[in-house]
Amino acid sequence: MSDASWGGVTQPSPGHPEAPPAQWLPRAQLQGLLDALLTRGYRVLAPVVRDAALHFDELKSVAELPVGWRDEQGPGRYRLAHTDASHVFGVVHGPGGIKRHVFAPREPLLQIEMDGPGQGFRAQAVIPAPPRTALLGVRGCDLAGLAMQDRIFLHDRFPDPHYAARRAGLLLIAVGCTRAVATCFCASMGTGPAPSGHYDVALTEVEDGFIAHTGSDAGRDLLAALALARAGAAMLGREREAYASCAGSMQRSLPREALRDLLYENLSHPRFDAVAARCLSCANCTMVCPTCFCHDVRDEPSLDGASSLRVRDWDSCFNPEHAQVHGLNFRPHVRERYRQWLVHKLASWVDQFGASGCVGCGRCISWCPVGIDLTEEVAAIAAAPGARS
Ligand code: SF4
Ligand code: SF4
Repeated sequence: MSDASWGGVTQPSPGHPEAPPAQWLPRAQLQGLLDALLTRGYRVLAPVVRDAALHFDELKSVAELPVGWRDEQGPGRYRLAHTDASHVFGVVHGPGGIKRHVFAPREPLLQIEMDGPGQGFRAQAVIPAPPRTALLGVRGCDLAGLAMQDRIFLHDRFPDPHYAARRAGLLLIAVGCTRAVATCFCASMGTGPAPSGHYDVALTEVEDGFIAHTGSDAGRDLLAALALARAGAAMLGREREAYASCAGSMQRSLPREALRDLLYENLSHPRFDAVAARCLSCANCTMVCPTCFCHDVRDEPSLDGASSLRVRDWDSCFNPEHAQVHGLNFRPHVRERYRQWLVHKLASWVDQFGASGCVGCGRCISWCPVGIDLTEEVAAIAAAPGARS
């Protein structure tokens, strides 16, 4: 198990010798944890099954959690199936994750009102005022994705007040992964399967309950209300084994250290022509990615010209308009768009933000309609470096 450094925040992973003592949360007390959050005034968002996929939605009862469900994922494939297993968090993840709850897919930024014909105007920032929110069931890859979003929207030169308003007071209850799907490769990216980085509480699900770790005063206060017993050494041993087994089961990986130079040195590799012949430039990979942050800002004036709303929408480097400037498109072909995405994610992101733009969640593989797999693309370039198209 590793300690993540995404966003510059480090915290011992569950099971780390420096972590505070772990506690035992019987499965029957999970509703007690939810009630403790609700009585503290939190809106609780957690994974639920909707439209044949997993999404973070408002939760009122643990009965709404995906007990017994399993996901099967592969290149261009996502299927849920119900089993008789009693695990609450058996589904690894869905397309959405938690990004949309801090970086909204569409949101107003500025309301502009004209004072009158030929006169001035007034502009008022539209800052969201979300309810106090707890996210329950956040995976290690999504914690790392959130830390990267923090790095971009909070800790860069121009902190974003809209993101900050959603992020402030967010309580994070992580759940470690004890099973991986075929597209996962978080172990090779150092972001999982045990959660690390910033969390308030981290849970590891074993057969009949959860090993609970705290990572903040808010997390300790929350668990104190449940008066839990301390987790024994045997339980912690089971937890270590579960994470080691999950990491060992992952079928994909990326060579994190060598990637940056490999990609910079192979910008003309023929593999980019091959992948462009398959890629639909549909932008699915960027929409599901927990670290992608590209957006567009547009003004929507009223028909009478008396007011205008400035709006931010998610955008994607796969959209042709994203590279359109003053009548010129500097990435007119799919080849350049895919290359931009891959090289930014895995190479120039490191120069820009000090860490990879990939946290190994594998969503872009599962949700690519033609099954393009970035680990396969990197492996193909690494197998014949220096080739030119
Ligand atoms: S690039 Fe793909 S695997 Fe990496 S974080 Fe984004 S969606 Fe996940
Ligand atoms: S790589 Fe796949 S998901 Fe991404 S734009 Fe191309 S076809 Fe769409």
